Amino acid sequence: MAHIIETAKSGRASCKVCKETIEKGDLRLGEEFPNPFSEGSLSYRWHHLLCGAKKKPTVLEQALIDCDLEVPDREELLKLIQENKSKEKPTSLPYAEFASTGRSSCIQCGEKIEKGDLRIAVNTDTEAGAFGMRKGFLHPACAADFAGSESSGVADAQELFDQVKVNSRGLAEADFEAVEAELFG
Ligand SMILES: [Zn+2]
Ligand SMILES: [Zn+2]
Repeated sequence: MAHIIETAKSGRASCKVCKETIEKGDLRLGEEFPNPFSEGSLSYRWHHLLCGAKKKPTVLEQALIDCDLEVPDREELLKLIQENKSKEKPTSLPYAEFASTGRSSCIQCGEKIEKGDLRIAVNTDTEAGAFGMRKGFLHPACAADFAGSESSGVADAQELFDQVKVNSRGLAEADFEAVEAELFG
């Protein structure tokens, strides 16, 4: 994905975070996403830079790195990005996270996933494409079996892990290593 920072050409777009208008001439953050209504085409979700730093820190960080424009608040934005990165919620499946409750069960083995344990969230309804999203959770150790199944939407555990690495938010390198060890263990 190539997220961008650009100068707003009009005052028609509103910020996806605060819903306020982004004024013409202001810098704005565009989060690229595949347009579900038109195969192969891309659209942008627009954000004020400050709103992006709070709610989309990973997106803004990538856009800032690629940005040739003079961004007046660059230092402040980078600080906010670091502060908010660990709180960011993933927006695409599959991803890995620490279970926030002990209420979820593994869709593969049926056993409970303990609160605080690493789990992998996957889309269990890949047939429905971009419109359908049914989230299910897996023990990392059970994810290899899931990845091998027809309904997983991935070819194998390696492809699942590659996607998890891209989509997950707020995990440390050691957490990915733990997921990897269980997944391929
Ligand atoms: Zn905003
Ligand atoms: Zn399991």
